[in-house]
Amino acid sequence: MSPVDPSPGSPTIAIVGSGPSGCYTAQFLRKKWHGAEIVVFDRLSTPYGLVRYGVAPDHLGTKAVTKQFDRLFERDGVQFAGSVEVGRDITLEALREAFDIVVLATGLSADRPLGEGAGAAPSALATTALTGVYGAGTLTRLINGHPDETADAVALGSRVTIVGHGNVAIDLVRLLLTPRADLLALGVAPEVADVLGAGPVTSIEVVGRSAVEVAKFDVAMVRELAKSPDVRFEAEGLDLPVSEGIGDPARRSAVDELVAGSPADAGRTVRFRFGWTPDHVTGEGSVGGIVFTSADGQGRTLSLETDSVCTAIGFTEASTAAVRRAEHEGPGADIERGLLDDGLFVVGWLRRGPQGTIPANRADSKMVADTIVGEVDDERLPLGKPGWSAVEAALLDPSASVPTLI
Ligand SMILES: Cc1cc2nc3c(=O)[nH]c(=O)nc-3n(C[C@H](O)[C@H](O)[C@H](O)COP(=O)(O)OP(=O)(O)OC[C@H]3O[C@@H](n4cnc5c(N)ncnc54)[C@H](O)[C@@H]3O)c2cc1C
Repeated sequence: MSPVDPSPGSPTIAIVGSGPSGCYTAQFLRKKWHGAEIVVFDRLSTPYGLVRYGVAPDHLGTKAVTKQFDRLFERDGVQFAGSVEVGRDITLEALREAFDIVVLATGLSADRPLGEGAGAAPSALATTALTGVYGAGTLTRLINGHPDETADAVALGSRVTIVGHGNVAIDLVRLLLTPRADLLALGVAPEVADVLGAGPVTSIEVVGRSAVEVAKFDVAMVRELAKSPDVRFEAEGLDLPVSEGIGDPARRSAVDELVAGSPADAGRTVRFRFGWTPDHVTGEGSVGGIVFTSADGQGRTLSLETDSVCTAIGFTEASTAAVRRAEHEGPGADIERGLLDDGLFVVGWLRRGPQGTIPANRADSKMVADTIVGEVDDERLPLGKPGWSAVEAALLDPSASVPTLI
């Protein structure tokens, strides 16, 4: 399988996760060690993590980073072992015994639950018994054709409430406003396009706790919404106080311009509301409404009738994740540098939390690659483990899952 004959003196390297942080780390380590065997494992049969399954399908320029990652596997001799879930198909310990260097780049895939990320007590927001509450991760994976998601698990009505004011929330607003034909043209599966437009969506409330100047969205993302057809944009709570010098007034201007430039007689409405923290979701069996309290502590409430609640308040480690970072921290762990244990490293969202764009992962990967190189150059990390050849037989066992090998 190996297009690179491991050179004596070069390490054998396993990277777990083929999202941007795993791929950038492979790039940096390939530059340093031309003769190293580098194998990138992923639990899915297709590489690139959230670039493929998170980034919105209409943001083709962002997704184009996969072209440079393709070169890793097509030209630069890095191997991709897909359909291998480390922690299930092979233990992390077995991988560490086989490879000199193991890098965890498994990201953070679970939607942060409402209570945790939005201020309210989790108990008040125990919504699991109600249908109609969806995490943004679930929805964006569905839109992007992730194999773990199915369209029949989602039913959006005509009135949708999105909790959160980050770029992922704005992605959702834009995609929910995208005409069905345009979604199909972007490669969204027909059954998914049906679900998204099922209502069809006529009203979207986008509610967050911060003032507009300190909301998490980028100005360009708000401006892009102006292209959505037949929508009136409204905003409430634009005058919430923020400390001087904090936040970005350009965010307020972008929302102002969006509102001012939208047609008064449009058939659909999107309303941004600032300064509200979710308190509880109402309904019997399925969502009927959501109640917020004012984030200023004055106890005002806001009740919205809604068919669906979409949470877009960040990501966290899945409780079902096959590899949990904390379980592998050795006594000398130095997470700031990406060192977890002897020969074991961590990079990307798994290292620094669920914030930062694809370019931020490039910088992170460079830093962690430097840590790895430092460990080897300073002879703190002995080399000589066999690499892929030591795990190949176990992974190609037909009674286990069958990896895709590039
Ligand atoms: C909805 C959404 C939209 C986004 N849009 C943008 C955008 O437009 N522009 C931008 O710059 N950034 C965007 N981001 C942020 C960007 O996607 C992340 O910064 C980046 O993907 C994090 O990279 P990562 O490699 O750490 O994790 P991920 O991209 O999550 O990659 C982790 C990989 O590890 C694999 N994996 C997990 N567990 C295992 C295991 N046990 N064994 C083997 N493999 C495993 C997963 O299958 C996955 O391929 C978006 C994020 C989300 C969630």
